Amino acid sequence: MGGLTEVAAGVLVATSSYAMTTSTVVVGSSGGCLVIDPAVTVPELAGLAAELAARGLRPAVAWSTHPHWDHVLWSRELGDAPRYAAPAAITIAETERDGIIEGVERAAPGHDLSLVGRMRSLDASAIPWDGPQAQLIVHDGHAPGHGAVFLPDSGVLVAGDMCSDVEIPLLDTVAKDPLGDYRAGMERLAAVCGVRQVVPGHGHAGDAGELRRRLALDAAYLDALTAGKPAGDPRLTEDSPAWMRATHDEQVRYFER
Ligand SMILES: [Zn+2]
Repeated sequence: MGGLTEVAAGVLVATSSYAMTTSTVVVGSSGGCLVIDPAVTVPELAGLAAELAARGLRPAVAWSTHPHWDHVLWSRELGDAPRYAAPAAITIAETERDGIIEGVERAAPGHDLSLVGRMRSLDASAIPWDGPQAQLIVHDGHAPGHGAVFLPDSGVLVAGDMCSDVEIPLLDTVAKDPLGDYRAGMERLAAVCGVRQVVPGHGHAGDAGELRRRLALDAAYLDALTAGKPAGDPRLTEDSPAWMRATHDEQVRYFER
């Protein structure tokens, strides 16, 4: 992990060696901070905890954007702050716990599994804490109860696994309406006013223009997929990770049916 970088005043982002997964830290008052999706490997989480301590910060509250294994991690060193996720995400974290644990063990072994996926359900429009306002934008599409966080003071949209510059749209193909859900999620994010920076769950932070570019790219990908002409997405190349190419192939097959 390259350590925490300030993307806006009081908003720090670290990028994991695993799939460019981001951890976002929002600095609050009197040393408290909001931690979103701490990721991914055991040494990276230890490094994050150490860096927070070195900056005089301690997690006051945490948020998991969605119930996929790489977004529900935690470590003892991060302390015992309340960890939240949207109600639908909690349901998945509970019912699909075995798969989540399997993902952790396969790709980032060594975590204290008793801490994995242990969030509480939060049905609210904002994260309850005394730091900068953190509005929740909860939708389905990538995963049930996917919750992006918008920080109006700094204009930062923490987008979870949406709006990535390195990953194609990854649909929840076991949902009843994967495409409708995904497009509805994109519309919700596109409608957020005052975004100056987007931080995707995987990839690079970008400005407002870059957010528009990614949303347009995602829309074009989905259009091509449903038209049976899935090609040409710049994020999908021969160098793309095998899992993403495989997921793309699965999505193609899903819409062929
Ligand atoms: Zn995900």
